[in-house]
Amino acid sequence: MTVLLLGGTGEARRLAEDLAGQFRVISSLAGRVREPRLPPGETRTGGFGGRAGFRTWLESNPVSAVIDATHPFAATMTATAAAVTAELGIPFLVLRRPGWQETPGDNWHWVGSVTEAAASLPATRVFLTTGREELEAFAHLDTHWFLARSVEPPEPPMPRNLKVILDRGPFTADNELTLMRSHNVKVLVTKDSGGTMTSAKLTAARHVEIPVVIVRRPPLPEDVTSVPTVQAAISWLKNSV
Ligand code: NAP
Repeated sequence: MTVLLLGGTGEARRLAEDLAGQFRVISSLAGRVREPRLPPGETRTGGFGGRAGFRTWLESNPVSAVIDATHPFAATMTATAAAVTAELGIPFLVLRRPGWQETPGDNWHWVGSVTEAAASLPATRVFLTTGREELEAFAHLDTHWFLARSVEPPEPPMPRNLKVILDRGPFTADNELTLMRSHNVKVLVTKDSGGTMTSAKLTAARHVEIPVVIVRRPPLPEDVTSVPTVQAAISWLKNSV
C-alpha cells in the first residue's frame, strides 16, 4: 500500500517513521529549505504544478491514500489536495496539530492575516516570527525596529530597520527570554502554528509581559476529515485502506 504524505512538519516526519515497514510512504516536501530534515522512506521535492499538476502526479503514481501533514498555514497545498483527492475518489486526511491556547498572564491580540498584524503594530521594537516569506507585509514600516528569525535568509522587500537571526526550532524558553531581553523586544508577532517546537517564545513573552500579535489559521476546506495527532492519523489510515 502506498501513501502520499504531504510533509514539511515534525508530525509528518514522525508519521513517516511510524508507518515505515507497514506502508510504502512517499513524503512530499515543498522545497523551501536547502537542508530539510528528511523523513525515512521515499521523498519528492517541489510543487506539483497546481491542481492539474497534482492530478497528473496522482494519476501517474497511484496511491491508496493521501495524508496532508503540511504546516497549518500551507492552505494552498491543502486546498489542492482536498479538491483533487475528492475528484479522484482517493481517501484523504488532514493531520493538523492543535493551535495554541491563551493562558492566564498572556496578552494576545488575534488578527486575521500578517497584513492585519502589520497594521496593528505600534512603532516599537518587534520580534517577527512569521517566516521570511511574510517580511514583505512589514516592509513599509520605517519607524519600527524588527528582529526576525527564519531558517533561510530572507530576500527583499523587507523592513529597513531589521536584524535577521538564522535559526530553526526547537527553541527553549530560557533562550527566547535572553533573546527578547537582549534586544529589548516590546511586541512579539507570530502565526498560530501550534505545537511545542516554537511555543517557547509564548512562554517568554508571558514572562516579560509583552503583548503577542497572533495570526489566526486559515480554515480547512469544507468536508475534509482532520485529526490532531500522529496516532489518530495511523488509526484512520488502517481503517481507510
Ligand atoms: P502553500 O501556500 O500552501 O503552498 C504553496 C505551493 O507550494 C503549493 O501550491 C505547492 O505548489 C507547494 N507546496 C506546498 N507544500 C508542499 C508539499 N508538502 N509538497 C509539494 N509541494 C508543496 O504553503 P507554503 O507556501 O509552503 O507555506 C505557506 C506558509 O506556511 C508559509 O508562509 C510558512 O509560514 C508556513 N510554512 C510552510 C512550510 C512548508 O513546508 N510548506 C513549513 C513551515 C512553515 P504547487 O501548487 O506547484 O503544487
